[in-house]
Amino acid sequence: NSVGVEIKLAVTDPTLKRLFETCQLTTHQRKTVAHEVAVSSGGRERVLKVLASPVISKDDLLLGTVYVFDDITREKEIDRMKSDFVSLVSHELRTPLTAIQLGVSLVLDGKAGPINEKQRSSLEKVDRQVKRLTDLINDLLDLSRIESGRIQMKREPISLVDIAVSRLEEMKPQADSKGVKLDLEVEGEIPMTVGDEARIGQVITNLLSNALKFTPQGGQVKVRLSRQGDMILTEVIDTGPGIPEEERERIFDKFYQLSDFKTRSQGGSGLGLSIAKGIVEAHGGRIWVESEVGVGSNFKFLLPIISPEEIDEQDTGRG
Ligand code: ADP
Repeated sequence: NSVGVEIKLAVTDPTLKRLFETCQLTTHQRKTVAHEVAVSSGGRERVLKVLASPVISKDDLLLGTVYVFDDITREKEIDRMKSDFVSLVSHELRTPLTAIQLGVSLVLDGKAGPINEKQRSSLEKVDRQVKRLTDLINDLLDLSRIESGRIQMKREPISLVDIAVSRLEEMKPQADSKGVKLDLEVEGEIPMTVGDEARIGQVITNLLSNALKFTPQGGQVKVRLSRQGDMILTEVIDTGPGIPEEERERIFDKFYQLSDFKTRSQGGSGLGLSIAKGIVEAHGGRIWVESEVGVGSNFKFLLPIISPEEIDEQDTGRG
């Protein structure tokens, strides 16, 4: 029992000092917090993962903090190489695919001479699979760009209400043909914020297309917007099969699809939610899902409210 023994560490090294300051716990934080920090030592850039865990006394006082340092420079490098590789390969695959797609539609349109029903039906299958492959490659390219930070998110004034309205409109025909009700619910006043309109739209479209994909005929899909303090909450609620608790985090991983045969047979690449997560996090937000199996799912994401007047200030501040 070491109560009464006080050890003080005088940190003079500026790098270390900055590290401790960045990762310091505040008195009301009562759980382990992880940070990734870039430091340069001996002329080399290193990335450290720092875990800061509070040491709490029996009477709930914060006695101190235990720091664990993990050098993840190599992992980061490998991650980047993987991203670069995927991005290069997907880029290279796109060109021949475009040629295949053009060729197939040329023959299908009868421009290379008449085709019979059997040939048409085969070619239509090829056409569908080529489209699927193109979507997959575009998703891969998107994801590797987002992961490597090579996509610069625009900083423009955006209205989540406008984005939701236009994305819902786009999905309406699909919902109608499936016999699923599609609604928008706006609670109170939703302020403008700052972000990338097309990318945030992509998040809503991804969530909506999943919701429609998994909701059976006669079901309902709803987008709800509300203000939560200094954040805007967007919810995409469906009456589909729901997601078991143990899978709720993993569905945001790359290529992850529920093992259930029913969801696998719906197609898709398993990349949509990772892309959505990448975009939301690049905006300083958070995305997660709440769900009850057999009742439905509620995909939620929070975005910070940034006043459009701050755009210039922050942009120049970033250098
Ligand atoms: P994709 O839809 O292309 O398979 P996603 O990353 O968008 O990839 O989704 C990953 C998986 O999460 C899906 O394959 C599905 O199993 C599950 N999922 C996503 N959205 C829903 C939903 N609204 N209801 C039920 N399951 C879902």
